[in-house]
Amino acid sequence: MRWSDRNIEIKTPEQIRLMRVAGLLVGETLELLRDAVRPGVTTGQLDALAEDNIRSHGGIPSFKGYSHPPFPGTICASVNDEVVHGIPGSRELAEGDVISIDCGAIVDGWHGDAAITVAVGEVPADVQELMRVTEESLWRGLAAARLDGRVSDISHAIESYVGSQGGYGILEEYTGHGIGTEMHMPPNVPNYGRRGRGPRLVEGMALAVEPMVTLGGKRTTLLEDEWTVVTGDGSWAAHYEHTFTLTQTGTWVLTAVDGGRERLAALGVPFGG
Ligand code: MG
Ligand code: MG
Repeated sequence: MRWSDRNIEIKTPEQIRLMRVAGLLVGETLELLRDAVRPGVTTGQLDALAEDNIRSHGGIPSFKGYSHPPFPGTICASVNDEVVHGIPGSRELAEGDVISIDCGAIVDGWHGDAAITVAVGEVPADVQELMRVTEESLWRGLAAARLDGRVSDISHAIESYVGSQGGYGILEEYTGHGIGTEMHMPPNVPNYGRRGRGPRLVEGMALAVEPMVTLGGKRTTLLEDEWTVVTGDGSWAAHYEHTFTLTQTGTWVLTAVDGGRERLAALGVPFGG
């Protein structure tokens, strides 16, 4: 491992392979949770499932105890107008809700971080479309990353795609981030901006990209629990995230179960795993 001149952690190929182990555990845990989402299940039950799956595969939940006040869960469970950092607990999901689940794990000292938004049964068409747009914007962002490009190429691709799809709000106070031996490391990866700015994308860099998009505005409010971020206007939100890296052969989405192979191919991007 070495560091770039902007304090970005640069991993060796062997260390990236270790990050894939952590990333795959996160990706598989999220797929387990996706299947468990249904009316009547509590966010606390989803949290317990995630913790069991991570620990039984030799991982450590990275969110648990994070920061101050210490985050109490293995997952962030953010329902409807909650955008990110919702605390799992006794809330029962109801038909028509939408839940964003963010999950992180550490394996052998290396972090993975990813998020999905899941519909609880049938949701209104505009919410379904919000989910589609947000997830596609994540993949457009990942697909825009190239060796020797810049971090804001990702940001620009996300903003451009979301903007082309309608009048959505993109959060600006929260961003993606570098990741590796810690969950949050330099550089920030904003979900908006002009291309060609920020640190150069080089081999050995690992980034978490995570668009947070609303059906209304971009402003948010922090609840009294000091974690849960809700939209300022009560509009519903979606959040998708993947951890990825660039190799000499292409893009490798470390938290996607298939490494990103299928979605990248659809966007004409070579798979780098
Ligand atoms: Mg996350
Ligand atoms: Mg993250």
